[in-house]
Amino acid sequence: MKNVIFIAPPAAGKGTQSIKLKEMGYIHIATGDMLREEVKSQSELGKEIDAIMQKGGLVNDEIVFELIKKKLINLHSPFILDGFPRSLKQANLLDELFKELEINNYEVIYLDITLEEALKRALGRLTCSCGASYNIYFKELMPKVDGICDKCGNVLVQRKDDNENSFKIRFENFLDSTLPVREYYQHKNKLHVIDATLDTNIITDKIKEILK
Ligand code: AMP
Repeated sequence: MKNVIFIAPPAAGKGTQSIKLKEMGYIHIATGDMLREEVKSQSELGKEIDAIMQKGGLVNDEIVFELIKKKLINLHSPFILDGFPRSLKQANLLDELFKELEINNYEVIYLDITLEEALKRALGRLTCSCGASYNIYFKELMPKVDGICDKCGNVLVQRKDDNENSFKIRFENFLDSTLPVREYYQHKNKLHVIDATLDTNIITDKIKEILK
């Protein structure tokens, strides 16, 4: 199976698709989750990261790259990079690491979405510590019981950065920093664009076709 790099605006559905790919044996490497873990640990670095994330800013390239590098070294299963690279600098660092680790079997998937649609998704999004994700604005994504995870029964929470202000900044950051990354992979003939508003199962089928 080919490795996957997801580049997409926030709330485009990378997390949802990653969960489906995990069922096929993929290892999910999400920089946002790794950074949130660091914040939870209450370390000095975690506190710095928390301040940046709450404002919707981007964490320093080298910090995020080190997290990715630790994961990719010694990894023998196919992987999904979710949320990395988010800048040209990160794309270059990743290329060097791929060379070093002799990884060239990968495709880049871009989930395309407008700010309006993504904002609606973000404001309705609820997540669980078990990794499950719900959305109160979409019938098929609502939890069966208000505020409770269908899978494990834990209380669902809204991410601190899923508010209108942070979200708009995150979206703008995406346009500023990540669109050049999309062009970068287009030049390498690695880019596949999928409409993020399609039914989630159709998106999964399209992704599977790309990864064959
Ligand atoms: P996500 O869960 O992918 O939406 O990421 C949440 C937040 O984590 C982002 O808004 C950034 O503050 C930070 N973050 C995640 N991935 C990266 C990255 N590759 N580079 C810099 N900051 C990141």
